[in-house]
Amino acid sequence: MNLCTKCGATPVIVKRKASGQMLCKACFIESTTEKVLKGIRRNKLIEKGDKVAVALSGGKDSVMVLDILHSLYERNIIDLIAITIDEGIEGYRKHGVEIAAKNAQKLGIDHRIVSIKDYFGKTLDEIMADESREHGACTYCGVFRRWIINKIAREEGATKIATGHNLDDETQAILMNYLEGNIDNLTRIGAKSEPKNDKFTVKIKPLREIPEKEIGLYVVARELDVHFDECPYSRESFRGEVGRFVKELSVNHPTIMYSTLKGFDKIKPAIKKEFGGKKSSMGVCIKCGEPASHDLCRACLFSKKINKEE
Ligand code: SF4
Ligand code: ZN
Ligand code: ZN
Repeated sequence: MNLCTKCGATPVIVKRKASGQMLCKACFIESTTEKVLKGIRRNKLIEKGDKVAVALSGGKDSVMVLDILHSLYERNIIDLIAITIDEGIEGYRKHGVEIAAKNAQKLGIDHRIVSIKDYFGKTLDEIMADESREHGACTYCGVFRRWIINKIAREEGATKIATGHNLDDETQAILMNYLEGNIDNLTRIGAKSEPKNDKFTVKIKPLREIPEKEIGLYVVARELDVHFDECPYSRESFRGEVGRFVKELSVNHPTIMYSTLKGFDKIKPAIKKEFGGKKSSMGVCIKCGEPASHDLCRACLFSKKINKEE
């Protein structure tokens, strides 16, 4: 029978192929939490006194972020708030919002729930039902969500926005942007955003080095309430295709995601130096006052089109 490499207990719940580590439940929770907190310190993601807004979808990633950051909140190192965005996806989002609310309530954290429809007049399903739309679901969803989260974080006085991006997400983003030749986007991938405008709150990714699989294990081991449903639009995206490809490769090459990330982090300063110098002339959107590089920000431009305003 396998014994935990750290404490000798059984049963072992995880075997880390890369390091050869085998861990029992308690040691897995402890080592994963420590790994996340170490990453936060190493990348200087959080400082004492920060007010962190967690983008809480109710899925395993954001629930784990909230759970780990709550330990810093309890120790009075940071203030914490959760923000949930209801995109308006039938049969998927309602459950997530309920779970998000439960988690925030259980931890006694302030929670704001807002919807894309409140701000932009339509649900994501309504936007997608229109044949004349110009983009895929994830493009509208991403642009509107970013706009909303940035606005609410500022309203709440948050100094950081924490998202649940994990190792799989980050590897997908790196590969996607390579494959599409989108070097400008590559210069922006990292543990912490470097906003070019004071109106953007700094975004942090505490789970960036944690594989999705281990996040699933963590929430089960901690008995956290999460929803595991997959967004019905996720399979349509290029990201989904890249994700499946990387997962397949990982079966025979278990460290491939980690090495992609580490390799990218090493060359990123060079990419940034060469291609990241393009300072965008950021002004403010004439409609909403949020940062924009044209008259209208992307969210207002999309909103104008989907609502067929002249
Ligand atoms: Fe939005 Fe796309 Fe994610 Fe679904 S998969 S929640 S549409 S970004
Ligand atoms: Zn152990
Ligand atoms: Zn705008």
